[in-house]
Amino acid sequence: MVQYVYEFSEGGRDMADLLGGKGANLAEMTRMGLPVPPGFTVTTEACRAFLATGTEPDGLTEEIAAHLTALEQSAGRRLGQPDDPLLLSVRSGARFSMPGMMETILDIGLTDDSVRGLAKVSGSERFAWDSYRRLVQMFGSTVMGVAPELFEAAIARLKDSLNAPDDLRLDASDLARLVETYKNLISGETGEDFPQDPTEQLHRSVRAVFESWNGQRARLYRRREHIPDTLGTAVNVQRMVFGNLGPDSGSGVAFTRDPATGHRRPYGDYLPNAQGEDVVAGIRNTVPLTDLGRLDPTSYTQLCDRLGTLEAHYRDLCDIEFTIERGTLWMLQTRVGKRTAEAAFTLAAELADEGLITADEALARVSGDDAARLMFPRFDTAAVGDALAHGIPASPGAAVGAAVFDCAEAVRRAAAGQKVVLVRQETTPDDLPGMVAAQAVLTSRGGKTSHAAVVARGMGKVCVCGAEDLAIDLQGRRCIAGGITVEEGTVISVDGSTGTVYAGAAPLVDSAVMRYFETGERSGDLVDAVARALDRADGVRRLGVRANADTPEDAARARRFGAEGIGLCRTEHMFLGDRRKLVEAMILAHTDADRVRALDALLPLQRKDFVGILEAMDGLPVTIRLLDPPLHEFLPDRTELAVRIATAEARGTPPSTHDTELLEAVNRMHEENPMLGLRGVRLGLVAPGLVAMQVRAIAEAVVERKRAGGDPRAEIMVPLIDAVEELRLVREEVEETLAAVSETSGMAVHCPVGTMIELPRAALTAGRIAQEAAFFSFGTNDLTQTTWGFSRDDVEAAFFSAYLDKGIFKVSPFETIDPEGVGRLVRIAVAEGRAARPDLKIGVCGEHGGDPASVHFFHNAGLDYVSCSPFRVPVARLEAGRAAL
Ligand code: PEP
Ligand code: MG
Repeated sequence: MVQYVYEFSEGGRDMADLLGGKGANLAEMTRMGLPVPPGFTVTTEACRAFLATGTEPDGLTEEIAAHLTALEQSAGRRLGQPDDPLLLSVRSGARFSMPGMMETILDIGLTDDSVRGLAKVSGSERFAWDSYRRLVQMFGSTVMGVAPELFEAAIARLKDSLNAPDDLRLDASDLARLVETYKNLISGETGEDFPQDPTEQLHRSVRAVFESWNGQRARLYRRREHIPDTLGTAVNVQRMVFGNLGPDSGSGVAFTRDPATGHRRPYGDYLPNAQGEDVVAGIRNTVPLTDLGRLDPTSYTQLCDRLGTLEAHYRDLCDIEFTIERGTLWMLQTRVGKRTAEAAFTLAAELADEGLITADEALARVSGDDAARLMFPRFDTAAVGDALAHGIPASPGAAVGAAVFDCAEAVRRAAAGQKVVLVRQETTPDDLPGMVAAQAVLTSRGGKTSHAAVVARGMGKVCVCGAEDLAIDLQGRRCIAGGITVEEGTVISVDGSTGTVYAGAAPLVDSAVMRYFETGERSGDLVDAVARALDRADGVRRLGVRANADTPEDAARARRFGAEGIGLCRTEHMFLGDRRKLVEAMILAHTDADRVRALDALLPLQRKDFVGILEAMDGLPVTIRLLDPPLHEFLPDRTELAVRIATAEARGTPPSTHDTELLEAVNRMHEENPMLGLRGVRLGLVAPGLVAMQVRAIAEAVVERKRAGGDPRAEIMVPLIDAVEELRLVREEVEETLAAVSETSGMAVHCPVGTMIELPRAALTAGRIAQEAAFFSFGTNDLTQTTWGFSRDDVEAAFFSAYLDKGIFKVSPFETIDPEGVGRLVRIAVAEGRAARPDLKIGVCGEHGGDPASVHFFHNAGLDYVSCSPFRVPVARLEAGRAAL
């Protein structure tokens, strides 16, 4: 027969699936001999069975009754015994903490009779009646379904009539009257009396806690925290202890170390003469834990002792809830405590130093997300005001600047020395100079893989995107959010770690961890702890970590951050700015000679870019991707051009031939669906001379670096392959060009030629493609886009929040790799690619390369390296290390 109820002494911390987190830890403390009020746990399995059928599973009621009898026997009194009642608490406790989301019922066992017994044994009428009115109120709302506001209104009316500012002014007879009012309220609302049978109170409370698993609050919380709906909650039934029995009683919360810094020092709050609920509710002000040392030295010493015991046992920071009942200390709850990112690192290092955990365990205790949080200046959260808007936290950090609404204004003000935040509906490659000039980018549309997000992350620039509550009035040069108008030039603060935007300049705190990555300056406990974790990760990881970088500065930074090469150098950024004119000339060329001239003019500029990057990454691989985006992206906007021409015509001046030719070209190249159009390898195959120009620039850069005594290791990557034939054709052109440069320079230039795998067809035919490719790099941005059929630029704003709410996925597949679909394609391509070519080098360079969960996936899928933006390199190193543990 299934066992649905466990005595605390039967369980343990490794039974959290069955007993919930709270129940498992209560059991653990009981077994450690710590003073836990006795009780038992009804399992999550019982809850699941109840929720599936709507009734208690067979045997549950009897099991609870048997455990109650045992509890009564050990206490020497019965539940609700009129002259000296045993009272119980019934609390939820799921596998994962869901604070305040489910129900708790205290003081079960109080009735019209036993309240008098409690008054007598406790020596306090007031205490007894206050406990009873709490029970009636909690039971009435939670179990019997009376609206909680009705109880609140009743107590407020009573206080008003007595001129009492708070509950403490209500005496025993006031509270006794209140109990009557509450009971009448319950009968009136439900047609049923508050039950006077203590056992009925208990059973109905357990059932109510089960049901609260499916309450609206709990469901929402689970969705947000990615907790499965199927787990169910356990229910802990425990003898009540009271912290509100006088000055020698009280309740508090304590941590074994400071959860903000990780350092060892007493940390917590204490509330004399109060129940635990009062501490949480914040009705009265607590005192620091150290004050307990003065108020009750014996209990304080005992508590410190027990904290030490717990930390040594759990080998981690723990937090506890405790109650002192007339000088006796009781432990009501413990768990491994939440901590800040700073505390996570410091604590891991200290516990390792103390010999409590190993270096590998210390590495497992920190995360890439924690590291990322520490790399950016932060807003001093204690000092920020109300939020102006919320969006998607796309690129972390905190920035302050004057709001500007277009690229030109951003550049102008930045050149004048002003700090600016570029606020746009969405960004395009045209906004690049403005993004470079700005401290932060804020958009009202687009998701984590929108242009703004990807580019900002690449630059390590703060970005919040998709802030839909932001209405941008470009004409009026202002935006409106939450009823507040922000005129151009008004200072705003953008928190890219939380997605929050504030009005005004929020105060900033600098990052010592970032200084360490930039300069190697290893000062302070925190920096030292981060450095140690990374060293360990580097020692154990199998995955290589490269960076996505396309300027020498980014390449150099990536190297300082620990990148072992460049996994993706996007060459399209090298076609912007002043070079657009040359790109236009290439597109508009009437003759081969014109085109060659335009390409020839681009060549030295590209070469110079590559020389800088190869120099910064000397001795390490640099994967250069041939041009990917559609060419029309480098031409002026179609509407702007048409307006310019129409305006000229209206004025009677004929438009320039250049403009009309441009418009013609734009119209010719216009695509309804450019993401699936003439881009990637397709472009290289239909735009004569383009591939040759790029490859020549790479090869000549290699020659130049070699002549300078360097060790350039360029690799050439072909984007958006569908079929092996595409790769074969481009590869031939690449090899011819390399041979030509080798010949003219007299220096052999060998560059491995590989391909991106970013279309499902490529993944599914990877075996054939591998025959032509020295390496694969998964472009998981496009692979996600094309596998799901989701436009990477649109969907996040359009319907992802609805999809997340409905639980279709728990996290955007553009953020964390979808293991079942996209991941399956990755695995197929790895297996078939390696089968065809065992030495095939395989990496990933989509945004997922810097996402912790995805890094673990790529480790398990057998990739050789991940490539991510320079600022994510430490995150990827750390997670690659953790994945290998
Ligand atoms: C990708 O598609 O994952 C990729 C890296 O290429 P891009 O983002 O430039 O399309
Ligand atoms: Mg791509």
